[in-house]
Parts: sequence; C-alpha cells; structure tokens
Amino acid sequence: MKIFCIGRNYADHIKELSNAIPDAPVIFMKPDTALLKDSEPFYHPSFSDDIHYEVELVIRINRVGKKIQQEYAPKYYQEIGLGIDFTARDIQSIQKQKGLPWEIAKGFDGSAPIGSFIMLEKIKDIKNINFSLHINGIAVQHGNSNLMINSFDFMIHYISQYFTLKVGDLIFTGTPAGVGKVSIGDVLEGFIEGEKMLHCEVK
Ligand code: MG
Repeated sequence: MKIFCIGRNYADHIKELSNAIPDAPVIFMKPDTALLKDSEPFYHPSFSDDIHYEVELVIRINRVGKKIQQEYAPKYYQEIGLGIDFTARDIQSIQKQKGLPWEIAKGFDGSAPIGSFIMLEKIKDIKNINFSLHINGIAVQHGNSNLMINSFDFMIHYISQYFTLKVGDLIFTGTPAGVGKVSIGDVLEGFIEGEKMLHCEVK
C-alpha cells in the first residue's frame, strides 16, 4: 500500500510556515514502514530535536483506479479517519533551503500514525467535517474540511494522473494551523465531530 500526503492544503497553515499558496497540490509519499496502527506508540527519533505533529483527515482508497475523472472520484473512497503527519521540521527546513526532497523529514519510521475509520455515509456533509487534536488534554489544532484548498475528489483525480491508486492506499489531506513540537511523554488524541478517533503516545 501507498501513503500519499498533501502539503499546503489549508491557507492558515501555509501562512504559519510562511509558505506560498501552491498553484497545484503538493504531493509527497511515506513508505508503509511509516504507519502506526491500533494506538501503537510513536518512538521519538534521536535525529531530530523538532518533531512536529500535524493532524489530518485521511481517506482510504477502496478500488483500483488511474486517471480518475473528478466526477467519479467519490466511487473510490468510502471511509475517513485521522492521521498524524509527523514531520522533522528542523530537517525539513534544511532540505527546503537546499531544494532537496523531504523524505527523511517526512517518511521516517512511525511518522504516520492512523486511528480508526468511519464510513462516510455516517457523516452528514463531507464538505463540513470538524476535526481536532488534543495534546495532554489541551486542544492544539482545529480544522474543518470546508477550509481545504483541494477537495477530496480533486486530490484523487490529481494523484491518479501520476500514480495508480490501489485498495488500501491512504491519502493524508493536509493539516490546518496550530502545528507544533512533541515531547516524550505527550499523549495525542484526535477527534472527528467530537468523537475520539486516534490515540498516540510519544515515547
Ligand atoms: Mg502534513
């Protein structure tokens, strides 16, 4: 399976990192060894002093497709959940300055915890999904899918122009503002519409 991530998909987060609004979706990938499931802990790597949390809505692909037209994209995903796009911000900043790829800052082991998924039919309006991240019980990030620059359907259309989508592939759809550093001992909890979907401890 493949993990696709969309960068710079919320204007307020683009602003907090002083990035430019992209003219096309920013796509990067994480390997399957980045995945943490079932509340597995995240072991803070020693190569970074500035690991950031980024809570994101995650959709799961449920059929094979390539070059998918946007109008047919809803047939390719049925479930949504939350994930954390852990980022070694210190390493990413150096890579960005040098114009080099981000993989070591974004795709390292354990950098993609995911929580449980719910069927989209249980969600009233997928263009209006509230989600949030709490750390040690304190809310640090709030997002709503209505603030995404690229919709779920457009992301599927766009990614599938370049990569064949397969069953089980995940798309991390970008983070809202409020990203910050994690420390050993932190407990991260993610919520969709107030319902707990994700739990991850930093060890
Ligand atoms: Mg992200």
